[in-house]
Amino acid sequence: FGTLPDLIRRHAAEQPDKIAITDGDDELTYRALDTIMDRAAAALQRDGTVQGQAVAMVSYPSVAQAAVFLAAVRAGSIAAPIQPSATPEQIAGMIADSGANLVFLDAANAAALAAEQLAARVIMLEDLAAWLAPEGAQPAPAEIKPDDGFNIIYSSGTTGIPKGIVQSHAMRWQHLSRNSGAGFDTAVTLLATPLYSNTTLVSFLPTLAWGGTVVLMKKFDAHRYLELAQHYRATHTMLVPVQYQRIMALPDFDRFDLTTFRFKTCTSAPFKAELKRDVVTRWPGKLVEYYGMTEGGASFILVADEHPDKLHTVGKLSPGHEAILLDDEGNEVGPGEMGEIVGRSPAMMNGYHKREGATRDAEYYDADGNRWIRHGDVGRIDEDGFLILMDRKKDMIISGGFNIYPSDLEAVLAQHPAVADCTVVGVPSDDWGETPVGFYVPRGDAQASAEEVRAATNAKLGKTQRLAALYVTDELPRSAIGKVLKRELRDQLAAGRF
Ligand code: ATP
Ligand code: MG
Repeated sequence: FGTLPDLIRRHAAEQPDKIAITDGDDELTYRALDTIMDRAAAALQRDGTVQGQAVAMVSYPSVAQAAVFLAAVRAGSIAAPIQPSATPEQIAGMIADSGANLVFLDAANAAALAAEQLAARVIMLEDLAAWLAPEGAQPAPAEIKPDDGFNIIYSSGTTGIPKGIVQSHAMRWQHLSRNSGAGFDTAVTLLATPLYSNTTLVSFLPTLAWGGTVVLMKKFDAHRYLELAQHYRATHTMLVPVQYQRIMALPDFDRFDLTTFRFKTCTSAPFKAELKRDVVTRWPGKLVEYYGMTEGGASFILVADEHPDKLHTVGKLSPGHEAILLDDEGNEVGPGEMGEIVGRSPAMMNGYHKREGATRDAEYYDADGNRWIRHGDVGRIDEDGFLILMDRKKDMIISGGFNIYPSDLEAVLAQHPAVADCTVVGVPSDDWGETPVGFYVPRGDAQASAEEVRAATNAKLGKTQRLAALYVTDELPRSAIGKVLKRELRDQLAAGRF
Protein backbone atom coordinates (compact mmCIF):
# COMPACT_ATOMS: atom_id res chain seq x y z
CA PHE A 1 0.00 0.00 0.00
CA GLY A 2 1.62 3.24 -1.17
CA THR A 3 1.44 6.37 0.93
CA LEU A 4 1.78 10.05 0.15
CA PRO A 5 5.37 10.16 1.48
CA ASP A 6 6.21 7.45 -1.11
CA LEU A 7 5.00 9.79 -3.87
CA ILE A 8 7.23 12.54 -2.49
CA ARG A 9 10.18 10.10 -2.67
CA ARG A 10 9.35 9.44 -6.31
CA HIS A 11 9.27 13.17 -7.12
CA ALA A 12 12.60 13.53 -5.31
CA ALA A 13 14.06 11.02 -7.76
CA GLU A 14 12.39 12.45 -10.85
CA GLN A 15 12.59 16.20 -10.20
CA PRO A 16 15.08 16.62 -7.31
CA ASP A 17 15.70 20.34 -7.76
CA LYS A 18 12.11 21.48 -8.09
CA ILE A 19 10.85 23.53 -5.13
CA ALA A 20 8.37 21.48 -3.11
CA ILE A 21 7.53 23.98 -0.34
CA THR A 22 8.47 27.57 0.39
CA ASP A 23 7.23 29.95 3.09
CA GLY A 24 9.10 33.08 2.13
CA ASP A 25 11.87 32.44 4.70
CA ASP A 26 12.75 28.81 4.00
CA GLU A 27 12.35 26.57 1.03
CA LEU A 28 12.84 22.86 0.31
CA THR A 29 13.42 21.17 -3.03
CA TYR A 30 11.87 17.74 -3.46
CA ARG A 31 15.24 16.15 -2.75
CA ALA A 32 15.71 18.24 0.41
CA LEU A 33 12.14 17.53 1.54
CA ASP A 34 12.61 13.79 1.08
CA THR A 35 15.88 13.89 3.04
CA ILE A 36 14.50 15.96 5.91
CA MET A 37 11.47 13.66 6.11
CA ASP A 38 13.80 10.67 6.48
CA ARG A 39 15.90 12.38 9.12
CA ALA A 40 12.88 13.63 11.07
CA ALA A 41 11.09 10.27 10.83
CA ALA A 42 14.24 8.55 12.16
CA ALA A 43 14.45 11.12 14.97
CA LEU A 44 10.80 10.52 15.91
CA GLN A 45 11.49 6.79 16.16
CA ARG A 46 14.69 7.48 18.14
CA ASP A 47 12.71 9.64 20.58
CA GLY A 48 10.15 6.94 21.24
CA THR A 49 7.22 7.98 19.03
CA VAL A 50 5.75 4.66 17.93
CA GLN A 51 3.66 3.73 14.91
CA GLY A 52 0.10 4.98 15.32
CA GLN A 53 1.11 7.59 17.92
CA ALA A 54 0.36 11.28 17.39
CA VAL A 55 3.05 13.91 16.70
CA ALA A 56 1.73 17.26 17.93
CA MET A 57 2.53 20.64 16.35
CA VAL A 58 1.45 24.12 17.42
CA SER A 59 2.66 26.53 14.78
CA TYR A 60 1.85 29.04 12.10
CA PRO A 61 2.24 27.43 8.69
CA SER A 62 5.91 27.02 7.85
CA VAL A 63 8.28 24.79 5.90
CA ALA A 64 9.49 23.32 9.20
CA GLN A 65 5.96 22.46 10.35
CA ALA A 66 5.17 20.93 6.96
CA ALA A 67 8.34 18.80 7.13
CA VAL A 68 7.46 17.47 10.60
CA PHE A 69 3.89 16.76 9.48
CA LEU A 70 5.05 14.71 6.50
CA ALA A 71 7.83 13.00 8.46
CA ALA A 72 5.30 11.84 11.05
CA VAL A 73 3.30 10.19 8.26
CA ARG A 74 6.41 8.55 6.82
CA ALA A 75 7.28 7.15 10.27
CA GLY A 76 3.82 5.56 10.42
CA SER A 77 2.78 7.99 13.17
CA ILE A 78 -0.13 10.41 13.02
CA ALA A 79 0.39 14.09 12.29
CA ALA A 80 -1.46 16.18 14.87
CA PRO A 81 -1.43 19.87 13.91
CA ILE A 82 -3.15 21.89 16.65
CA GLN A 83 -4.83 25.29 16.45
CA PRO A 84 -2.55 27.96 17.94
CA SER A 85 -5.62 30.23 18.13
CA ALA A 86 -7.15 28.05 20.87
CA THR A 87 -6.56 29.05 24.50
CA PRO A 88 -3.39 27.70 26.22
CA GLU A 89 -5.52 25.34 28.35
CA GLN A 90 -7.35 24.04 25.28
CA ILE A 91 -4.04 23.52 23.46
CA ALA A 92 -2.61 21.62 26.42
CA GLY A 93 -5.82 19.58 26.48
CA MET A 94 -5.59 18.71 22.79
CA ILE A 95 -1.91 17.72 23.11
CA ALA A 96 -2.76 15.40 26.01
CA ASP A 97 -5.84 14.06 24.19
CA SER A 98 -3.77 13.23 21.10
CA GLY A 99 -1.39 11.04 23.11
CA ALA A 100 1.70 12.61 21.52
CA ASN A 101 5.02 12.27 23.34
CA LEU A 102 6.57 15.16 21.36
CA VAL A 103 5.17 18.59 20.54
CA PHE A 104 6.75 20.94 17.99
CA LEU A 105 6.26 24.64 18.70
CA ASP A 106 7.25 27.73 16.77
CA ALA A 107 8.63 30.66 18.73
CA ALA A 108 5.61 32.83 17.94
CA ASN A 109 3.31 30.44 19.81
CA ALA A 110 5.68 29.11 22.46
CA ALA A 111 5.51 32.16 24.73
CA ALA A 112 1.79 31.83 25.40
CA LEU A 113 2.27 28.17 26.28
CA ALA A 114 5.31 28.63 28.52
CA ALA A 115 3.31 28.60 31.75
CA GLU A 116 1.22 25.65 30.68
CA GLN A 117 1.98 22.05 31.71
CA LEU A 118 2.37 20.18 28.44
CA ALA A 119 2.02 16.42 28.40
CA ALA A 120 4.74 16.10 25.75
CA ARG A 121 8.37 17.03 25.36
CA VAL A 122 8.78 20.37 23.56
CA ILE A 123 10.96 20.77 20.47
CA MET A 124 11.24 24.20 18.90
CA LEU A 125 10.72 24.22 15.13
CA GLU A 126 13.40 26.91 14.93
CA ASP A 127 15.87 24.32 16.33
CA LEU A 128 14.73 21.49 14.08
CA ALA A 129 18.11 21.04 12.37
CA ALA A 130 19.78 20.16 15.69
CA TRP A 131 17.04 17.64 16.55
CA LEU A 132 17.09 15.74 13.23
CA ALA A 133 18.81 12.38 12.98
CA PRO A 134 22.20 12.62 11.24
CA GLU A 135 22.46 13.04 7.48
CA GLY A 136 21.86 9.74 5.71
CA ALA A 137 19.66 8.38 8.53
CA GLN A 138 16.76 6.19 7.43
CA PRO A 139 13.66 5.50 9.52
CA ALA A 140 12.60 1.89 10.07
CA PRO A 141 10.03 1.35 7.31
CA ALA A 142 6.46 1.52 8.55
CA GLU A 143 3.94 -0.96 7.26
CA ILE A 144 0.81 1.03 6.63
CA LYS A 145 -2.73 -0.19 5.93
CA PRO A 146 -5.46 1.96 4.32
CA ASP A 147 -7.38 2.26 7.59
CA ASP A 148 -4.38 3.49 9.59
CA GLY A 149 -4.36 7.09 10.78
CA PHE A 150 -2.68 9.71 8.58
CA ASN A 151 -3.45 12.78 10.65
CA ILE A 152 -5.71 13.85 13.47
CA ILE A 153 -7.60 17.09 13.05
CA TYR A 154 -9.41 18.82 15.87
CA SER A 155 -12.69 20.13 14.46
CA SER A 156 -13.11 23.89 14.41
CA GLY A 157 -15.11 23.90 17.61
CA THR A 158 -17.65 26.13 15.87
CA THR A 159 -20.50 24.45 17.71
CA GLY A 160 -18.82 23.06 20.84
CA ILE A 161 -15.53 21.67 22.14
CA PRO A 162 -13.19 20.65 19.29
CA LYS A 163 -13.45 16.94 18.57
CA GLY A 164 -10.45 14.91 17.44
CA ILE A 165 -11.02 13.28 14.06
CA VAL A 166 -8.51 10.73 12.82
CA GLN A 167 -8.34 10.84 9.04
CA SER A 168 -7.03 7.60 7.59
CA HIS A 169 -4.73 7.06 4.65
CA ALA A 170 -7.82 5.88 2.73
CA MET A 171 -9.60 9.20 3.41
CA ARG A 172 -6.55 11.03 2.15
CA TRP A 173 -6.49 9.01 -1.09
CA GLN A 174 -10.14 9.94 -1.56
CA HIS A 175 -9.25 13.66 -1.38
CA LEU A 176 -6.29 13.16 -3.70
CA SER A 177 -8.26 11.33 -6.37
CA ARG A 178 -11.01 13.96 -6.28
CA ASN A 179 -8.39 16.36 -7.55
CA SER A 180 -7.08 14.30 -10.45
CA GLY A 181 -7.35 16.45 -13.54
CA ALA A 182 -6.88 19.66 -11.55
CA GLY A 183 -3.35 20.03 -12.92
CA PHE A 184 -1.54 19.85 -9.59
CA ASP A 185 1.59 18.40 -11.25
CA THR A 186 2.49 21.82 -12.63
CA ALA A 187 0.82 23.79 -9.83
CA VAL A 188 2.16 26.62 -7.77
CA THR A 189 -0.36 26.48 -4.92
CA LEU A 190 -0.57 29.59 -2.74
CA LEU A 191 -2.06 28.84 0.69
CA ALA A 192 -2.94 31.34 3.38
CA THR A 193 -4.74 29.15 5.92
CA PRO A 194 -3.21 27.00 8.67
CA LEU A 195 -2.15 23.36 8.32
CA TYR A 196 -4.35 22.25 11.22
CA SER A 197 -7.41 22.66 9.04
CA ASN A 198 -8.63 20.16 6.50
CA THR A 199 -9.47 23.20 4.38
CA THR A 200 -5.74 23.71 3.82
CA LEU A 201 -4.75 20.06 3.67
CA VAL A 202 -7.08 19.28 0.76
CA SER A 203 -4.91 21.58 -1.40
CA PHE A 204 -1.56 21.19 0.34
CA LEU A 205 -1.42 17.38 0.14
CA PRO A 206 -2.57 16.98 -3.49
CA THR A 207 -0.01 19.55 -4.63
CA LEU A 208 2.81 17.49 -3.11
CA ALA A 209 1.29 14.18 -4.20
CA TRP A 210 1.34 15.37 -7.82
CA GLY A 211 4.74 17.06 -7.57
CA GLY A 212 3.73 20.72 -7.67
CA THR A 213 5.05 23.60 -5.56
CA VAL A 214 3.40 24.87 -2.35
CA VAL A 215 3.79 28.47 -1.21
CA LEU A 216 2.75 28.91 2.44
CA MET A 217 1.79 32.30 3.85
CA LYS A 218 2.48 32.43 7.57
CA LYS A 219 -0.22 35.01 8.15
CA PHE A 220 -2.90 36.19 5.75
CA ASP A 221 -2.91 39.74 4.50
CA ALA A 222 -5.00 40.50 1.41
CA HIS A 223 -2.51 42.82 -0.28
CA ARG A 224 0.48 40.64 0.49
CA TYR A 225 -1.44 37.66 -0.87
CA LEU A 226 -1.77 39.37 -4.26
CA GLU A 227 1.90 40.37 -4.26
CA LEU A 228 2.91 36.77 -3.57
CA ALA A 229 0.49 35.42 -6.17
CA GLN A 230 2.08 37.66 -8.77
CA HIS A 231 5.64 37.02 -7.59
CA TYR A 232 5.34 33.20 -7.57
CA ARG A 233 3.02 33.11 -10.60
CA ALA A 234 0.48 31.15 -8.55
CA THR A 235 -1.76 28.74 -10.46
CA HIS A 236 -3.79 27.17 -7.62
CA THR A 237 -5.13 28.44 -4.33
CA MET A 238 -7.52 27.64 -1.51
CA LEU A 239 -9.10 30.54 0.35
CA VAL A 240 -12.01 30.79 2.75
CA PRO A 241 -14.88 33.18 1.88
CA VAL A 242 -13.79 36.02 4.16
CA GLN A 243 -10.35 35.98 2.48
CA TYR A 244 -11.93 36.18 -0.99
CA GLN A 245 -14.03 39.06 0.28
CA ARG A 246 -11.01 41.02 1.64
CA ILE A 247 -9.03 40.43 -1.55
CA MET A 248 -11.84 41.41 -3.93
CA ALA A 249 -12.49 44.57 -1.88
CA LEU A 250 -8.97 45.91 -2.44
CA PRO A 251 -9.15 49.04 -4.59
CA ASP A 252 -6.10 47.99 -6.63
CA PHE A 253 -7.18 44.37 -7.16
CA ASP A 254 -7.40 44.81 -10.92
CA ARG A 255 -3.83 46.09 -11.13
CA PHE A 256 -2.38 42.67 -10.27
CA ASP A 257 -1.55 40.14 -12.96
CA LEU A 258 -3.44 37.01 -11.92
CA THR A 259 -3.57 35.41 -15.37
CA THR A 260 -1.40 32.51 -14.18
CA PHE A 261 -4.30 31.18 -12.02
CA ARG A 262 -6.01 28.00 -13.19
CA PHE A 263 -7.77 26.54 -10.13
CA LYS A 264 -9.15 28.38 -7.12
CA THR A 265 -11.02 26.59 -4.40
CA CYS A 266 -13.09 27.55 -1.39
CA THR A 267 -14.69 25.73 1.52
CA SER A 268 -15.48 26.00 5.27
CA ALA A 269 -18.14 28.69 5.51
CA PRO A 270 -21.02 30.25 3.56
CA PHE A 271 -19.79 31.87 0.35
CA LYS A 272 -22.20 34.50 -0.95
CA ALA A 273 -23.44 34.11 -4.53
CA GLU A 274 -22.52 37.73 -5.42
CA LEU A 275 -19.00 37.20 -4.12
CA LYS A 276 -18.62 34.00 -6.17
CA ARG A 277 -19.85 35.91 -9.23
CA ASP A 278 -17.32 38.66 -8.58
CA VAL A 279 -14.48 36.13 -8.28
CA VAL A 280 -15.59 34.30 -11.45
CA THR A 281 -15.76 37.58 -13.36
CA ARG A 282 -12.61 39.36 -12.20
CA TRP A 283 -10.14 36.64 -11.21
CA PRO A 284 -8.86 34.30 -13.95
CA GLY A 285 -9.03 30.51 -13.58
CA LYS A 286 -11.72 28.11 -12.46
CA LEU A 287 -13.51 28.61 -9.15
CA VAL A 288 -14.49 25.42 -7.33
CA GLU A 289 -16.37 25.33 -4.04
CA TYR A 290 -16.39 22.26 -1.77
CA TYR A 291 -18.89 21.48 0.90
CA GLY A 292 -18.05 18.70 3.30
CA MET A 293 -16.74 17.96 6.73
CA THR A 294 -13.53 16.68 8.27
CA GLU A 295 -15.36 13.56 9.46
CA GLY A 296 -15.94 12.30 5.91
CA GLY A 297 -19.67 12.05 5.30
CA ALA A 298 -20.64 13.32 1.86
CA SER A 299 -18.96 16.02 -0.15
CA PHE A 300 -20.51 18.32 -2.74
CA ILE A 301 -18.69 20.26 -5.45
CA LEU A 302 -19.67 23.39 -7.35
CA VAL A 303 -17.66 24.41 -10.41
CA ALA A 304 -18.84 28.00 -10.24
CA ASP A 305 -17.76 29.05 -13.75
CA GLU A 306 -19.85 26.31 -15.36
CA HIS A 307 -23.02 26.99 -13.35
CA PRO A 308 -23.67 30.74 -13.21
CA ASP A 309 -27.30 30.02 -12.29
CA LYS A 310 -26.34 27.80 -9.33
CA LEU A 311 -24.10 30.12 -7.34
CA HIS A 312 -26.56 30.06 -4.42
CA THR A 313 -25.80 26.33 -4.01
CA VAL A 314 -22.74 24.32 -2.96
CA GLY A 315 -23.05 22.06 -6.00
CA LYS A 316 -23.63 18.39 -6.62
CA LEU A 317 -22.50 15.21 -4.86
CA SER A 318 -18.94 14.10 -5.53
CA PRO A 319 -18.71 10.79 -7.37
CA GLY A 320 -19.04 7.83 -5.01
CA HIS A 321 -20.68 9.94 -2.30
CA GLU A 322 -24.27 9.62 -1.14
CA ALA A 323 -26.53 11.96 0.82
CA ILE A 324 -30.02 11.84 2.25
CA LEU A 325 -31.97 14.53 4.08
CA LEU A 326 -33.76 13.63 7.30
CA ASP A 327 -36.48 15.47 9.21
CA ASP A 328 -36.52 15.81 13.00
CA GLU A 329 -38.20 12.42 13.36
CA GLY A 330 -35.46 10.76 11.34
CA ASN A 331 -37.58 10.20 8.22
CA GLU A 332 -36.31 11.00 4.74
CA VAL A 333 -37.88 14.22 3.45
CA GLY A 334 -39.65 14.48 0.09
CA PRO A 335 -37.98 15.89 -3.05
CA GLY A 336 -36.99 19.55 -2.67
CA GLU A 337 -37.77 19.60 1.05
CA MET A 338 -35.53 20.77 3.83
CA GLY A 339 -33.76 18.37 6.19
CA GLU A 340 -30.54 17.51 7.98
CA ILE A 341 -27.82 16.33 5.62
CA VAL A 342 -26.65 12.79 6.33
CA GLY A 343 -23.83 11.52 4.17
CA ARG A 344 -21.78 8.49 3.25
CA SER A 345 -18.59 8.13 1.28
CA PRO A 346 -16.05 5.40 0.55
CA ALA A 347 -13.81 6.62 3.40
CA MET A 348 -15.22 8.13 6.58
CA MET A 349 -13.86 8.56 10.09
CA ASN A 350 -14.27 5.54 12.35
CA GLY A 351 -15.32 7.81 15.19
CA TYR A 352 -14.22 10.81 17.22
CA HIS A 353 -11.01 10.22 19.14
CA LYS A 354 -11.92 9.03 22.66
CA ARG A 355 -15.44 10.49 22.35
CA GLU A 356 -17.87 7.59 22.19
CA GLY A 357 -20.92 9.67 23.02
CA ALA A 358 -20.17 12.25 20.35
CA THR A 359 -19.49 9.44 17.88
CA ARG A 360 -22.87 7.82 18.55
CA ASP A 361 -24.59 11.20 18.11
CA ALA A 362 -22.90 11.65 14.74
CA GLU A 363 -23.76 8.22 13.38
CA TYR A 364 -26.89 7.15 11.57
CA TYR A 365 -27.72 3.55 10.58
CA ASP A 366 -30.28 2.98 7.85
CA ALA A 367 -32.71 0.04 7.61
CA ASP A 368 -30.06 -2.04 5.83
CA GLY A 369 -27.55 -1.37 8.60
CA ASN A 370 -25.39 0.97 6.48
CA ARG A 371 -23.43 3.51 8.45
CA TRP A 372 -23.88 7.22 7.63
CA ILE A 373 -22.61 10.42 9.24
CA ARG A 374 -24.86 13.27 10.32
CA HIS A 375 -23.53 16.58 9.06
CA GLY A 376 -25.42 18.76 11.53
CA ASP A 377 -26.21 21.08 8.60
CA VAL A 378 -29.67 21.73 7.23
CA GLY A 379 -30.32 22.18 3.54
CA ARG A 380 -32.39 21.10 0.55
CA ILE A 381 -31.57 19.61 -2.82
CA ASP A 382 -33.03 21.34 -5.87
CA GLU A 383 -34.53 19.62 -8.92
CA ASP A 384 -31.11 19.46 -10.61
CA GLY A 385 -29.39 17.82 -7.65
CA PHE A 386 -27.65 20.96 -6.31
CA LEU A 387 -27.50 21.39 -2.54
CA ILE A 388 -28.80 24.64 -1.09
CA LEU A 389 -27.24 24.91 2.34
CA MET A 390 -29.28 26.69 5.00
CA ASP A 391 -27.85 26.60 8.51
CA ARG A 392 -26.20 24.44 11.06
CA LYS A 393 -28.85 22.52 12.93
CA LYS A 394 -27.57 23.92 16.23
CA ASP A 395 -28.03 27.47 14.93
CA MET A 396 -31.63 27.02 13.82
CA ILE A 397 -34.11 29.06 15.81
CA ILE A 398 -37.39 27.57 16.98
CA SER A 399 -39.69 30.44 17.82
CA GLY A 400 -43.29 29.87 18.88
CA GLY A 401 -43.14 26.45 17.21
CA PHE A 402 -41.85 27.81 13.89
CA ASN A 403 -38.45 26.95 12.43
CA ILE A 404 -36.51 30.08 11.59
CA TYR A 405 -33.43 29.80 9.42
CA PRO A 406 -30.89 32.47 10.42
CA SER A 407 -29.47 32.38 6.88
CA ASP A 408 -32.79 33.69 5.49
CA LEU A 409 -32.64 36.65 7.86
CA GLU A 410 -28.94 37.22 7.22
CA ALA A 411 -29.60 37.44 3.48
CA VAL A 412 -32.17 40.21 4.00
CA LEU A 413 -30.05 42.08 6.56
CA ALA A 414 -27.01 41.94 4.27
CA GLN A 415 -28.95 43.77 1.53
CA HIS A 416 -29.21 46.93 3.64
CA PRO A 417 -26.76 49.57 2.38
CA ALA A 418 -25.53 50.32 5.92
CA VAL A 419 -24.50 46.70 6.53
CA ALA A 420 -20.97 45.50 5.73
CA ASP A 421 -21.10 42.14 7.55
CA CYS A 422 -23.81 40.51 9.65
CA THR A 423 -25.11 37.45 11.42
CA VAL A 424 -28.26 36.31 13.19
CA VAL A 425 -28.52 34.08 16.25
CA GLY A 426 -31.35 32.76 18.43
CA VAL A 427 -31.61 33.86 22.06
CA PRO A 428 -33.91 32.55 24.79
CA SER A 429 -37.27 34.29 25.00
CA ASP A 430 -39.98 33.90 27.64
CA ASP A 431 -42.75 34.33 25.09
CA TRP A 432 -41.44 32.36 22.13
CA GLY A 433 -38.90 29.90 23.50
CA GLU A 434 -36.30 31.50 21.23
CA THR A 435 -36.21 34.67 19.23
CA PRO A 436 -33.82 35.98 16.54
CA VAL A 437 -31.44 38.86 17.17
CA GLY A 438 -28.97 40.33 14.69
CA PHE A 439 -25.45 41.75 14.80
CA TYR A 440 -23.89 43.87 12.09
CA VAL A 441 -20.72 45.70 11.24
CA PRO A 442 -21.68 49.07 9.71
CA ARG A 443 -20.16 50.28 6.46
CA GLY A 444 -17.74 53.17 6.88
CA ASP A 445 -20.11 55.66 5.27
CA ALA A 446 -23.30 54.30 6.86
CA GLN A 447 -25.94 56.91 7.74
CA ALA A 448 -28.73 54.74 9.16
CA SER A 449 -28.99 53.95 12.88
CA ALA A 450 -29.29 50.35 14.09
CA GLU A 451 -32.97 50.96 14.85
CA GLU A 452 -33.55 52.17 11.27
CA VAL A 453 -31.72 49.15 9.84
CA ARG A 454 -33.79 46.84 12.05
CA ALA A 455 -37.08 48.48 11.00
CA ALA A 456 -36.14 48.31 7.30
CA THR A 457 -35.10 44.65 7.64
CA ASN A 458 -38.14 43.60 9.63
CA ALA A 459 -40.40 45.21 7.03
CA LYS A 460 -39.13 42.60 4.56
CA LEU A 461 -39.44 39.62 6.90
CA GLY A 462 -42.35 37.41 7.89
CA LYS A 463 -44.00 38.15 11.22
CA THR A 464 -42.34 35.27 13.09
CA GLN A 465 -38.92 36.06 11.59
CA ARG A 466 -38.62 39.63 12.81
CA LEU A 467 -35.46 40.58 14.66
CA ALA A 468 -36.17 41.30 18.32
CA ALA A 469 -32.97 43.31 18.54
CA LEU A 470 -30.12 44.42 16.32
CA TYR A 471 -26.67 45.23 17.68
CA VAL A 472 -23.77 47.10 16.13
CA THR A 473 -20.30 45.60 16.50
CA ASP A 474 -16.83 46.42 15.14
CA GLU A 475 -16.20 42.90 14.00
CA LEU A 476 -17.90 39.51 14.07
CA PRO A 477 -15.97 36.90 16.06
CA ARG A 478 -14.45 34.44 13.58
CA SER A 479 -12.29 31.35 13.88
CA ALA A 480 -8.84 31.44 12.28
CA ILE A 481 -10.35 29.86 9.17
CA GLY A 482 -13.10 32.43 8.88
CA LYS A 483 -16.14 30.77 10.46
CA VAL A 484 -18.45 33.12 12.35
CA LEU A 485 -18.52 32.01 15.98
CA LYS A 486 -22.21 32.35 16.79
CA ARG A 487 -21.70 30.52 20.08
CA GLU A 488 -19.36 33.29 21.20
CA LEU A 489 -21.89 36.00 20.26
CA ARG A 490 -24.63 34.25 22.24
CA ASP A 491 -22.27 34.00 25.25
CA GLN A 492 -21.29 37.67 24.96
CA LEU A 493 -24.91 38.70 24.77
CA ALA A 494 -25.80 36.58 27.82
CA ALA A 495 -22.90 38.20 29.67
CA GLY A 496 -24.37 41.63 28.92
CA ARG A 497 -21.68 42.80 26.49
CA PHE A 498 -24.22 44.42 24.15
P1 ATP B 1 -17.36 21.69 14.97
O1 ATP B 1 -17.84 20.39 14.41
O2 ATP B 1 -16.32 21.54 16.05
O3 ATP B 1 -18.47 22.61 15.39
P2 ATP B 1 -16.88 22.57 12.25
O4 ATP B 1 -18.08 21.75 11.91
O5 ATP B 1 -16.93 24.01 11.89
O6 ATP B 1 -16.55 22.47 13.82
P3 ATP B 1 -15.24 21.48 10.11
O7 ATP B 1 -15.27 19.99 9.96
O8 ATP B 1 -13.96 22.17 9.84
O9 ATP B 1 -15.59 21.87 11.60
O10 ATP B 1 -16.29 22.15 9.16
C1 ATP B 1 -17.35 21.49 8.54
C2 ATP B 1 -18.54 22.42 8.50
O11 ATP B 1 -18.20 23.62 7.79
C3 ATP B 1 -19.72 21.87 7.75
O12 ATP B 1 -20.51 21.04 8.57
C4 ATP B 1 -20.46 23.14 7.33
O13 ATP B 1 -21.25 23.67 8.37
C5 ATP B 1 -19.33 24.12 7.07
N1 ATP B 1 -19.01 24.18 5.63
C6 ATP B 1 -18.13 23.42 4.95
N2 ATP B 1 -18.11 23.73 3.64
C7 ATP B 1 -19.00 24.73 3.47
C8 ATP B 1 -19.46 25.48 2.35
N3 ATP B 1 -18.98 25.28 1.13
N4 ATP B 1 -20.40 26.42 2.57
C9 ATP B 1 -20.90 26.64 3.80
N5 ATP B 1 -20.52 25.97 4.90
C10 ATP B 1 -19.58 25.01 4.74
MG1 MG C 1 -18.68 19.85 12.50
